[in-house]
Amino acid sequence: MEIALHPAIPTYSGGLGILAGDMIRAAADRELPMVAVTLLHHKGYFYQKLDVGGRQTEDAVEWIVEDFLQELPPRPTVTIEGRTVHLRAWCYYVRGCTGAVVPVYLLDSDLPENAGYDRTLTDWLYGGDLLYRLCQEVVLGMGGVNMLRALGHDRIERFHMNEGHASLLPIALLDEQARRAGHPRFTHKDVEEVRRQCVFTTHTPVPAGHDRFPTELINRVLGRAETEAMKEVLLWDDYLNMTFLALNLSYYVNGVAKKHAEVLRQMFTQYRIDAITNGVHAATWASPPFQALFDQHVPGWREDNFTLRYVLSIPSQEVWRAHDQAKRQLLDHVNRVTNVGMDVRDLTIGFARRDATYKRGDLIFRDLERLKKISAEVGHFQLVYAGKAHPQDQEGKELIQRIFQARDALKTQVKIAYLTNYDWPLAQLMTAGVDVWLNTPQPPLEASGTSGMKAALNGVPSLSILDGWWIEGCIEGVTGWAIGNLPGPEDAGEERSLRDAASFYDKLERVVVPLFYRDRERFIDIMRHAIALNGSFFNTQRMVLQYVTRAYFR
Ligand SMILES: *Cc1c(COP(=O)(O)O)cnc(C)c1O
Repeated sequence: MEIALHPAIPTYSGGLGILAGDMIRAAADRELPMVAVTLLHHKGYFYQKLDVGGRQTEDAVEWIVEDFLQELPPRPTVTIEGRTVHLRAWCYYVRGCTGAVVPVYLLDSDLPENAGYDRTLTDWLYGGDLLYRLCQEVVLGMGGVNMLRALGHDRIERFHMNEGHASLLPIALLDEQARRAGHPRFTHKDVEEVRRQCVFTTHTPVPAGHDRFPTELINRVLGRAETEAMKEVLLWDDYLNMTFLALNLSYYVNGVAKKHAEVLRQMFTQYRIDAITNGVHAATWASPPFQALFDQHVPGWREDNFTLRYVLSIPSQEVWRAHDQAKRQLLDHVNRVTNVGMDVRDLTIGFARRDATYKRGDLIFRDLERLKKISAEVGHFQLVYAGKAHPQDQEGKELIQRIFQARDALKTQVKIAYLTNYDWPLAQLMTAGVDVWLNTPQPPLEASGTSGMKAALNGVPSLSILDGWWIEGCIEGVTGWAIGNLPGPEDAGEERSLRDAASFYDKLERVVVPLFYRDRERFIDIMRHAIALNGSFFNTQRMVLQYVTRAYFR
C-alpha cells in the first residue's frame, strides 16, 4: 500500500513504506529480477501542522507527479461495485549500486473515463472510510495483477504481499486460473496452484493493523458471485479478515523479527510462521559524514554491508568527528526552526515515530522532577522529538499535546524540541544527529521498529525497551542499553509502564549520562559497536537475501 521511493515523493506514511522502499533499493543493489506495485497517492499521507499547544491539523501534500515519474501506456481495468475502473501506471526506476534497475509501478485511477468517486481512489494513503479502503485494496491487489499482465509480466514466479492490504492479489490470480481453465469461477482445486506462488509478510500484532471488512461490503464491492467463490476457498461469517485471507493463500508467511513471529504464532495458531528480521538500506541511511568515513576505511561497504564490521578499527577521533558533523547539522536545523538554543556539547536524545499510543511517546514524562534532577546534578541532556498521529487517532493527537505540555513545564531545565512533519529527510537528520536513540513501546506490540537501525548505522546507540528488533540487537553496554526487562505474560499495561519509566530514569542517571560526559572513549567504543555489530546485520541487504533463500525459493 505504501513505498517510500524518494525523499520528495510522499507515497508513504512511516516505517512500513520506508521498509518497502529500502527492500527494493537492496534488491536493485543485488540485481534481483523483481518489480514492485503500489498506489500513487496524489495527496500523500498528510502534511502535519502543529499549533503552539501541539494540536495537529492535516493538509494534503502537494507534489508534481510528472516531475518524478514516467507515465506508461497500458490501461487495464478492475470491477468495483459493478463499475469498470480504468487504471494507469506511473513508473519509478530504482537504481542499485551497480546500475541495475527495479521498476516500481504506481497505480493511478484518476482518469477522465472513470466515475467521479473512482477517480479519488488513489488520492489518500490511509484516508477515507471502510468502503474507500476496500476499493483501494481492490485497485492494489486485483488491479495490480491486471497491470502487471498488461505490462507484459506474464511469467512471474513469486508474488510477495507486503502486509494484508495486498491480500486480494491471490483472488486475482484465482480469477485468472479459472479463466484459463474456462470455468466461470475458481474453485478449491485452483487454490493449491495459487498458494505455491504467494508469500505473505505481516508487520504488526496491533489489531488496527489487520483490516477486516463486513461481508455486505465485500458483496457490494466485489459482487455476490465473486464473494461466493471466495467463501468456497475461505470460510468466514460476518467479517472478512484480510490477514486470514493472505495466511490461507500463501505457502510462506513471516513476521518481521523473532519476537514478532512468536507473538503471531500465538495469534494465528494453525499457521507456520517464520521470522525474517527487518533491516534498513545502509547507503540511504548512513549520513554524508559517515558515508565519507566508510568510503575511506571500508571501501565496498555499499556492495557488501557485512564489511561494516571493520568499523571497529577506525580511530575514535574520526568516528567522533563524523558524528559531530551530523550532530551540528541536526542542531542547526532544530535551533533554526524552533529557536530553542540547543548546545552541541550537550547529550542529545532523539525520539521519533508515529504517535500511536502503544509507542508510549510520553513514557519518560511521568516524573518531571526526576528528569530535572538528573539534568541538574548528573549532566545536562536535551531531547528532540518528532512524529505524526493518524488523522483519525484522537488518542495519538492527545499524546502530542502531552509532550508539548512536558516541554513547556521543563522549559528552563531540560530543552525539548518537537519538530513538525516527521518524514524521510527529517528521519535522516535525526537518526544521525542525536547521541542516543530512544524507543519506549509497550511490549510486545513493536513488531520490529527500524529507526533504531538507522541510528546504529550512524554510530548512535539505542536506549530502548526490549521489544522487536532490539531484543536481537541489544548487547548491554556494548551496542546500547535496555530499558526494563524482557516482556513476560504477567505484564499489565499501567504497572509495566511505571516500571519501564523507573528503569529509564535509572539507566539515564547511572549509565548513559555519566558515560557520555566522563568516559567519552568508552562511549565512542559503543558507537563503533553499534555500527560494526548492528549496522552490518540489520540492513535490507541481509534481509532481502533471506527472503530469496527462505521465502521466494524454498
Ligand atoms: C524509519 C521511519 C519510521 C519507522 O520508525 P520506527 O522505529 O519503526 O517507528 C517512521 N517514519 C519515518 C519517516 C521513518 O524514516
